[in-house]
Amino acid sequence: MSASFSFTLEKTDGGARLGRITTAHGEIQTPVFMPVGTAATVKGMHPESVAATGAKIVLGNTYHLMLRPGADRIERLGGLHRFMNWPGPILTDSGGFQVMSLAKLRKLTEDGVTFQSHIDGSRHTLTPESSTEIQRKLDATITMAFDECTPFPVDRKGAAESMRLSMRWAVRSREAFVARPGYGQFGIVQGSVFPDLRAESIEALTKLDFEGYAVGGLAVGEGQELMFKTLDTTTPLMPVHKPRYLMGVGKPSDIVGAVLRGIDMFDCVMPTRSGRTAQAFTRRGTVNLRNARHMDDPRPLDEHCTCPACRNYSRAYLHHLVRAEEMLGPMLLTWHNIQYYQDLTAGLRDAIANGTTQQFVADFEAGQALGDLEEVPVYGLGK
Ligand SMILES: [Zn+2]
Repeated sequence: MSASFSFTLEKTDGGARLGRITTAHGEIQTPVFMPVGTAATVKGMHPESVAATGAKIVLGNTYHLMLRPGADRIERLGGLHRFMNWPGPILTDSGGFQVMSLAKLRKLTEDGVTFQSHIDGSRHTLTPESSTEIQRKLDATITMAFDECTPFPVDRKGAAESMRLSMRWAVRSREAFVARPGYGQFGIVQGSVFPDLRAESIEALTKLDFEGYAVGGLAVGEGQELMFKTLDTTTPLMPVHKPRYLMGVGKPSDIVGAVLRGIDMFDCVMPTRSGRTAQAFTRRGTVNLRNARHMDDPRPLDEHCTCPACRNYSRAYLHHLVRAEEMLGPMLLTWHNIQYYQDLTAGLRDAIANGTTQQFVADFEAGQALGDLEEVPVYGLGK
């Protein structure tokens, strides 16, 4: 029936990896960017539109979905794929990160975390066992182990204690996982920015033989330089023939730099959240559509982009939608940003396949450094 969950490393170019993940819900080419569908929807996008950008896998959030509409209800309604009309692969986080960032009156113990819902104040508990069970009810293609995302900054002792708690939770998460063909579970490497703690974490996780491994606890305020430095000492220790997922990352330049350091999978709210605040990612850097200079600009947002926002509308129109607070504005800009992230990762995949990754990165950096077009519009005010 369903294929078994597997990862094939097809090619490498320097540290960059081209791969393929086979799942019960379809194949995923890597490097891959996964749009975030927090509450069973990629905000402002039809699932058909998400698929049209080339996205193959989306994220769901355990914390949000357990509180509303509830994991049991989603299970009764046929699972998350059917519920949100996304037949492709879905990865769910473990809920740990959102509990720490959103919930009220949190209490962390060896057993797990008790907290109050940010929605209605109701009390809940998440443990490695319950998080894994909720993700099974949601029918997640990829289940994440329950962990504590170590905050930053943190001292060595705090980072070690937090990581070791996550490793004990990883053992319990693995025991609670119900293996099914085409479904996988990923362990999460912690240890903050301390190379020896990261190494200890990888050693503990690989004993549990997860289907993939994530790097957690980065992009939490340490900055790009320290994040890359941490990856430089972390990814070489990770299993070669398993997918590697850098959680919550990031800006386009973060993704390019992490791919060069051997990361295969990414997720981030940045393209969707920025789309709702008029910020667009383009081949020439970020563009703020709220800016008055777009008012008379008939050009597309990004002339090389194939998304509807760029193909069918002018900057002037997008600017108007933003200023008038029309719903279509965030919808088009979200579509564009998701398209941009998919084009970026597709470009990286082509470059790795052709052995031209260095050239791709040079072109990417040159385009970003060029900045957004400032030329006089074809018609309009001029200057
Ligand atoms: Zn576009």
